[in-house]
Amino acid sequence: MARFSDKVAIVTGSSNGIGRAAAVLLASEGAKVTITGRDSERLEETRQAVLKAGVAESHVNSVVADITSADGQDLLISSTLEKFGKIDILINNAGANIPDANGKTRTEGGIDTFLKMFQLNLQSVVEMTQKVRPHLAKTRGEIVNVSSIAAGPAAQPQGPYYSSAKAALDQYSRSAAIDLISEGIRINVVQPGFVETGFSTVARGLNAEESANFYSSMGAQPHCIPAGFCAKPEHIASVIAFLADRKASEYIVGQTITADGGSTLVLGFHAHFARKAPKN
Ligand code: NDP
Repeated sequence: MARFSDKVAIVTGSSNGIGRAAAVLLASEGAKVTITGRDSERLEETRQAVLKAGVAESHVNSVVADITSADGQDLLISSTLEKFGKIDILINNAGANIPDANGKTRTEGGIDTFLKMFQLNLQSVVEMTQKVRPHLAKTRGEIVNVSSIAAGPAAQPQGPYYSSAKAALDQYSRSAAIDLISEGIRINVVQPGFVETGFSTVARGLNAEESANFYSSMGAQPHCIPAGFCAKPEHIASVIAFLADRKASEYIVGQTITADGGSTLVLGFHAHFARKAPKN
């Protein structure tokens, strides 16, 4: 029997990147999935990717919604219940480093941007957790939150609001995990490093070619990514699936699993050793 047979999952931010890969993986291993995002065309691409993986059309529920709106959150939950009858797994993956309208990205970024960043990367997760809680209590379900290595402890001067929101998400997840485990609900976190997705087109305003160049140049620098390459979305999806699979990870509660090819274990001085010695 496939490991997610009889399970129903909601994967937020599944119109692209990590969420799309997670939705394809869960569905191809038996789950009924609700996929969602604001962009209907990209969401349809995800639906097609799920079907291409051999999943029955009746196992996919596409919902166009803004995860930061109460109506969007309610629609996601009600349509999942209507179509599949229950909820076993919530993957809170939607997130972004939202650019400032004035092009400011560092500590001078506007408070509007700060608020938007927290609304998407933290508040929507808190709200979805509250709303899905009674349904997950019935199924003894799982929540996996997608954070980032930007959460720290290393400083992130190029994105202080995004990284602060992710740091808050990590601490919220730990606290909620201990609060809700008594109801049988298990919460864990994945912290990806560099992953080739649409993230850098949003966060850094790069086009597709610039984005591909950025990821390959980061991957080529061992003092940035010791593994020697940027992750594909599937590398993170497999960690999400592990944490969403109670049989595989039942005794992991409130933990943050870092999947970053070793990036966070490299300190500045390691760069000295990562370079070849200069020729005299
Ligand atoms: P993508 O930009 O490829 O995907 C982001 C997803 O989030 C899209 O499906 C997008 O859908 C959705 N989303 C964004 N804002 C909203 C919103 N307001 N309402 C509903 N959906 C929304 O990026 P990734 O796949 O990389 O990002 C997934 C997660 O991984 C994020 O939480 C990100 O912070 C995290 N992460 C990514 C890293 C990377 O290097 N890629 C590194 C560390 C963490 P749509 O645009 O259709 O609304």
